[in-house]
Amino acid sequence: MSIFHAPSGRFQLGGGPRVSFEVFPARSTMQADGISELADVMARYDPEFVSVTYGAGGSSREATFGTIGQLINHGGLDVVGHLTCAGQTREQTDAVVERYAAQGVKGILALRGDMPGVSGPYEPSPGGYENAIDLTRVLARRGDLDVYVAAYPEVHPASASAGACLANLKRKLTAGAKAAITQFFFDNRDYFDFMERVRAAGIYQPIIPGILLIHDFNKVASFAKKCSARIPDEYFDMFDRLPSHSAEHKEQACELAADQIVRLAAQGVDHVHIYTMNRSDLVERTCRLAGIEQSAPIMAST
Ligand code: FAD
Repeated sequence: MSIFHAPSGRFQLGGGPRVSFEVFPARSTMQADGISELADVMARYDPEFVSVTYGAGGSSREATFGTIGQLINHGGLDVVGHLTCAGQTREQTDAVVERYAAQGVKGILALRGDMPGVSGPYEPSPGGYENAIDLTRVLARRGDLDVYVAAYPEVHPASASAGACLANLKRKLTAGAKAAITQFFFDNRDYFDFMERVRAAGIYQPIIPGILLIHDFNKVASFAKKCSARIPDEYFDMFDRLPSHSAEHKEQACELAADQIVRLAAQGVDHVHIYTMNRSDLVERTCRLAGIEQSAPIMAST
């Protein structure tokens, strides 16, 4: 068994790795229409789950509920709701958990999150969950939801060291998380090096690599800086002079993501998590290039 293989996982024979997807919540009718189209595309790849982000401090709460409902009811997809506890009381956080459970989510990605509008060291909210470990422990105790946590191959920007970041991940997984999903990275060596350290630290749960679809290179470059995710120098040359909405930009982005997925799979990775940026065209093209198997015939969406 490779160090990347989930102990209880299944490999698809000849169809590429299993996939899950991340979407962000729709905030308008037009965006909600886009979610329906995206749900149809994602469903073709029989995803393990689709995760829906949660705005810092609960800022997108209602939109997140709306998109989760849409994915479950329209798309028939298994959904994992993200949940951050920063800036919220325990009661507020627990109320979201109950709402997610009532909606029929399969799991929750337990996150500390960041204090909205606050810079400097993180302070837990008065009366709130202390951190992601605290939230994970409470969610895992319920027993009815899969709990996922975040991992950082290139180290979380607020972490004192790579060792502290890894120890924090281990505590989250020991608190009852089923698996971790990584921050996006562009150089697979960063993931493989991280996995060596993860396994050496005695962490045996799956660490699902996160692959970002580059919808707009300039925006991604500035976001990556904030997340401490390194962009290889050659990416700057490749996207130079490619307007963000051009066909060439799209093709370049899909080729890079597909290449990352193929190379991860070649090293034994059996599950990748794709950050869709809500772009069904990028999802479809990347999955096709990466040879990810379609599980059902393509149906015209209604
Ligand atoms: P933690 O695991 O609790 O901590 C992260 C790091 O900070 C750790 O490495 C730890 O060493 C260090 N640390 C923790 N506490 C302290 C402390 N007191 N002092 C110093 N260092 C400390 N954000 C959103 O708002 N909404 C989302 O939907 C969302 N989804 C995400 C999905 C994924 C897969 C990932 C990777 C990130 C996501 N984020 C999201 C971003 C996330 O909220 C931030 O990265 C946040 O800063 C950390 O949350 P965490 O749960 O990883 O924190």
